[in-house]
Amino acid sequence: MQFRSFRVARLTGAVVVLFAIIAQAASTQDRSLLGFDATSTSAERVLEERFDASLRTEDLRAWLKRLSARPHHVGSPYGKENAEFIASQFRAWGFDTQIEEFSVLFPTPKTRIVELISPEKYTAKLTEPAIAEDATSNQASEQLPVYNAYSADGDVTAPLVYVNYGVPRDYEELTQRGIDVKGKIVIARYGGSWRGIKPKVAAEHGAVGCLIYSDPRGDGYFQGDVYPKGAWRNENGAQRGSVADMPLFPGDPLTPGVGATADAKRLDLKSAPTLTKIPVLPISYGDAQPLLRALGGPVAPESWRGSLPLTYHLGPGPATVHLKVESNWDRVMARDVIARLRGSERPDEWVVRGNHHDAWVNGADDPLSGEVAMMAEGRALGELVKSGWKPKRTIIYCSWDGEEPGLLGSTEWAEAHADELRKKAVVYINSDSNARGFFGVQGSHTIEKFINEVARDVVDPEKKISVGERARAQQILTGTNEARREARERADLRIGALGSGSDYTVFLDHLGVAALNLGYGGEGDSGGVYHSVYDSFDHYTRFVDPDFAYGIALAQTGGRAVLRFANAEVLPYAFSNFSDSVGKYVHEVAELADDMREDSKEKNRRIADKTFVAVFDPTEPYVVPTPDEPVPFLNFAPLQNAFSRLQESARKYDAASRANGSKLSAQTQQALDQALMQTERAMVREQGLPRRPWFKHQIYAPGFYTGYGVKTLPAIREAIEQRNWTEAEQQIGLVSDTISQIAAAIDRATAQLK
Ligand SMILES: [Zn+2]
Repeated sequence: MQFRSFRVARLTGAVVVLFAIIAQAASTQDRSLLGFDATSTSAERVLEERFDASLRTEDLRAWLKRLSARPHHVGSPYGKENAEFIASQFRAWGFDTQIEEFSVLFPTPKTRIVELISPEKYTAKLTEPAIAEDATSNQASEQLPVYNAYSADGDVTAPLVYVNYGVPRDYEELTQRGIDVKGKIVIARYGGSWRGIKPKVAAEHGAVGCLIYSDPRGDGYFQGDVYPKGAWRNENGAQRGSVADMPLFPGDPLTPGVGATADAKRLDLKSAPTLTKIPVLPISYGDAQPLLRALGGPVAPESWRGSLPLTYHLGPGPATVHLKVESNWDRVMARDVIARLRGSERPDEWVVRGNHHDAWVNGADDPLSGEVAMMAEGRALGELVKSGWKPKRTIIYCSWDGEEPGLLGSTEWAEAHADELRKKAVVYINSDSNARGFFGVQGSHTIEKFINEVARDVVDPEKKISVGERARAQQILTGTNEARREARERADLRIGALGSGSDYTVFLDHLGVAALNLGYGGEGDSGGVYHSVYDSFDHYTRFVDPDFAYGIALAQTGGRAVLRFANAEVLPYAFSNFSDSVGKYVHEVAELADDMREDSKEKNRRIADKTFVAVFDPTEPYVVPTPDEPVPFLNFAPLQNAFSRLQESARKYDAASRANGSKLSAQTQQALDQALMQTERAMVREQGLPRRPWFKHQIYAPGFYTGYGVKTLPAIREAIEQRNWTEAEQQIGLVSDTISQIAAAIDRATAQLK
C-alpha cells in the first residue's frame, strides 16, 4: 500500500510537501560525507560508481514480468513461489538467506452482496472484468475479489446516507444539517483519510454498514482517460484494501506485540480489537452511481460533490440498501525473505532495508516496482562482495509478505526479533511503489542531513540534475509560501515525518529505530489502478515507468543509503535538523491550542448572538450547534524548556562531530555508534501513547483519525484535538521528559567525541 499519499495528493490538487533544499553551488564531491573522513569518502565514492555500474534495467523488467505474472496475495500459491524465487536470487548473490514464516489471520470473502432494494432495484456487480489489452486481467480463479480485509461479518438493510470522505469533520457537517446516521448504511468516497478510518468513524456514529466507492473525480475520468485507453480507473475498477484499525496496532490482529509464530498466544477472534465493528465493502463508480442517484434529502455541499453525472444528495434514503459480508476467517502463512550480508567489523550493527512482495492482485506497481529496484540493489551488492568488498556493518535485505492486509510480515518479524533489533538496528530503509517523477522521502529527522547528501548524488534520469535539486525546484514552484522560503534558504531538504502505510511502521513507532521511506513519483499515472486487477505489467510499462529509469534511480538511492550506513566510520546521524523540526512541532501544538481557543470563542459568540439563526434558510433543515467548552490556557513551558535543552545538545554534538569525528580510534567509533543508537531509543516510551500502547514513539505517530497521516508530538497534539485538557497537560509533562532524555542521550554521544 502506501506512497499513495504522494500521488493521491497530486490527484486532488493538494500541495505535497516533499521537502525543500538549497542549491549546492560548489561541487559536493569535494566534501567528506557524513560519518566518513576524506580518505574513506573517496573510497566510498569509487565503490558507489561500481555499484551503479551493476544496475541493469533489463533485470528490473524481467523480474517485474515474472513476479507479476499471477496474483500473489499473502497465503496464495504464487505468493509462495515469489518468496522462493526472491530467496533463490539473494542466495545466488551471496546473501545468507532464509524465509521466515508467520501464521497470520487473513480473512477472504465468502459472501458479498450490495443491492439497492428501493425505490428501485439494482444489484452491484462487484467485479472487475478481463480486458483484452491487459494480459493478466483474466486470471479470475486466482484473483481476490473486490473487498475490504478485516471487515466484520454482517447482513444489514437500511436507508443510505452520503458522508463525503467519512471523516469526523464530515459528521459535524451532517449533524448541523439535522442528519443522523444511526441505524443507517453510509456511503463514503475514497480519499481524505486512510480507508480504515471510514468504517471506524461510521460505527462510532451508530451506522450499521459502510460502502466506500471510487469517485471518478479522485482517480477516474476526471483525471484522464480511463483504462485501457488511458491509465485511470474505469467504471468497474474498485479499490481493495485493509480496514483493520491500524492506528491501534498494525500486524496480525490476533497477536499484538508478539510474533505470530505457530505457538504464539492468540486473541479470540471475537475480542480482536482491530477488526471493524460494522460490515464494509468497496465498490466501483459503476456500482455506486445507481445508489447515489436514488438518494434524496438535501443537496450535498459543493466541496462534497464528485464527478458523476448526477446531483449529489445526502439522504437519508429513500435509497435503501442491503449489504451482506461474510468472510472465511482463516490463518495463512506469511513468508518474509530475510537476506543477510554479515558485517566484517561491526556485525552487531544492522542496516535493515525492506520492501514488500505481496500484492492485492498482480501488483506490478504496488509493490513490485519497489521490490525489483531493491532486488537490483541486492544483486549489485553481491557483485561488490564477489570482487572482495565487505560491509563494515551487517546488511539485511527484507522482502515482506502480508503488507497489504496490515503490515503483517514486517510487524510480526520485528516483534519476533524485537530484543535483538533494539540492540542492533541502526536504521530501517523502506520503499514500496515507485513511478516516474520527483524524489520523495519521509523519515526520522536525525538522518535528514544524511538523506540530503544521498539526494545530491543521484542524477534524475529525465532532467540530468540531482534528484534533490529537482525536488527543490518543484517545492519552489508548487509549495506554500513557507515551503518556498525554506526551499530557497534552508541548507537541507526538510523531509516529511512518517505516519503509517508501509513497513517502516513497526521499526520506527514500536521499536524506536530511525527510519526512511524512499520513492519516486508524481509523473507516472498509476493512481487509477491502485489495488485493482489492472495494476499489471501491461499497465505499468505503458503508463508508469516504461523504461524503468526511475527503478534504477530508486536502486541508486536505496543502494547509496545502505552502502553509506554500512560503511561509515561513525553512524551518520546529525541532530540540528532534528531539533529544528521538534521546535517547529512545539510551536505548532501551542498554536493549535491558541487557534482552537479563538475558534471556540467565535463560535460561542455566534450562538449567543443568534447569528446562525438569523442566517440559515428556514426551508432547509438546520441544527444550531451546541456551544464549545472554552479552551483553557495550557502550560507549554516544560515543553519549551526541554526543547531549549535539546537544541543546545544537538548543536554541541554536530559541532564536535564536524571538528573531530574522523580522528577517533576504532574502539571509540564503536562506542559512539552505541551511544548514537541510544538517542533513537530514547524517543520511545514503554507505556506508549494514551489508549494505544503499541505506538511508543513520542515524536511521530500515525493519527488516530487520519490513519496514514502523521501526527507529530502525537500524545499532546491529539489530546488537544480531542479537547482533553487534563490529558494534554499530563502529556506535555511526559513528552517534555522524553525530549530531555533525548538531549541527555545526545550529550552522552558528544562525550565520546571529547
Ligand atoms: Zn504497497
